[in-house]
Amino acid sequence: MYRHRWLDGTDIGLPPGKVVCVGRNYATHAKELGNPVPDEPLLFMKPVPACVAMESDITIPRNQGAVHHEAEIAVLIKNRLTRADCRVVEGALLGIGAALDLTLRELQGRLKSQSHPWEKAKAFDGSCPLSRFESVEAFDDLSDIDIGLSVNGAVRQTGNSSQMLFPVLPLIVTISHCFTLLPGDVVLTGTPAGVGVLDSGDVLSVRVGKRIQVITKVR
Ligand code: ZN
Repeated sequence: MYRHRWLDGTDIGLPPGKVVCVGRNYATHAKELGNPVPDEPLLFMKPVPACVAMESDITIPRNQGAVHHEAEIAVLIKNRLTRADCRVVEGALLGIGAALDLTLRELQGRLKSQSHPWEKAKAFDGSCPLSRFESVEAFDDLSDIDIGLSVNGAVRQTGNSSQMLFPVLPLIVTISHCFTLLPGDVVLTGTPAGVGVLDSGDVLSVRVGKRIQVITKVR
């Protein structure tokens, strides 16, 4: 069973909850998929069984077309948030981590073309590998966090939270006006450009900020 953990491996003691994600939060990534840049956050969710520890090998679905990696900065919520303002949100964040928003890209394309919801392509079991979390207090500025992903030693994705169309705090404010966030919920903040296909045997290195780095393998 997945548990939220600190960098040293200790259990954070909050129940894993829903994962609220934002699509197209970096203009560079919206552009690479040929999508328009949204004027409000495009939100979707992953349920609890999507969460797995990134440190363990990652299992990807078979025979359902390309599985893409989307490396993202994850934010762990500690307080209940309903229609919160920026100040309240700021006091309700517990940790920062790295996440992969695994996506069945061909299936997503078919669902989009039929104007159907994306869950089958985005919310399957194991679709959200999460790293261990670092205390949010270790970050001076949530608008200046680096994120990067390498596959088999080659850099695929790099970005910085300063490039987000909807920065962390206003994004979570908006989310809290749509869905109540609960302690243990996680917010994924979007992916920079460079998404691509994962294959069995790939070795991934995912990094967020200065101290979060996970090396993991695709099964
Ligand atoms: Zn994503």
